[in-house]
Amino acid sequence: MSDREMIRVEKLNKSFGKLHVLKDVDMTVKESDVVCLIGASGSGKSTLLRCLNFLEKKDNGKIIIEGKEVTKATHKIDEVRQKIGMVFQHFHLFPHKTVLENVIEAPTQVKKTPKDKAVQEARELLKKVGLEDKADVYPNKLSGGQKQRVAIARALAMNPDIMLFDEPTSALDPELIGEVLQTMKGLAEEGMTMIIVTHEMGFAREVADSIVYMNEGRIVEVGHPRDFFENPKEQRTKEFLDAMM
Ligand code: ADP
Ligand code: MG
Repeated sequence: MSDREMIRVEKLNKSFGKLHVLKDVDMTVKESDVVCLIGASGSGKSTLLRCLNFLEKKDNGKIIIEGKEVTKATHKIDEVRQKIGMVFQHFHLFPHKTVLENVIEAPTQVKKTPKDKAVQEARELLKKVGLEDKADVYPNKLSGGQKQRVAIARALAMNPDIMLFDEPTSALDPELIGEVLQTMKGLAEEGMTMIIVTHEMGFAREVADSIVYMNEGRIVEVGHPRDFFENPKEQRTKEFLDAMM
């Protein structure tokens, strides 16, 4: 495992009006780490990911991406965002574009990758997510699990260094969850750096390098999966795990 820090968060705070959603959050993610972020609904998991991707503006604290603190003054947020791919619960595919067109959209429009190169890369990514035969179909012909795998390929098409997943299987029928988890597991095995918000505890235990448990805007406990699940230190973690299992 590499010691290179891909993400470091220091004393991150974020409020929505009077609601203090992230409270002094500290977190470090190293290269090729898979971090599973767990916690009850409303605990601030999505807000944390959104701050990391600059979809949400932090109030204070530091966000350091690949060794450089990201501030308005020093960075073009769009460039930083390109390093960080994000996959959401809902897929947001363009319905009027084919699978292949969805995957090449950002590289051709944002990165100005020549179309034939983008198409070639997109086909490789579709192969990676097991959908090479679906390149020319429209999203409405796909199952939820297939759509989510297209969304993963689409995020990978920007060649990100880090992937963030916000409950990527929560909207899926149970029988479709496995194929998406399998795709993420494949990325983990290839060494992708990932933060995954998930309620899939079996997956978290098997794939994560560390588990981060959030409660009411604070990180309560961080641990290696085995210690975390077998021997949680904090009472709140125990209660959460009891409720989940
Ligand atoms: P989680 O992903 O853990 O369920 P969220 O980060 O989505 O939690 O939300 C944390 C809290 O912040 C919740 O109380 C939620 O209602 C609130 N919240 C999230 N986004 C906004 C927003 N844009 N405006 C106001 N409140 C928000
Ligand atoms: Mg959420």
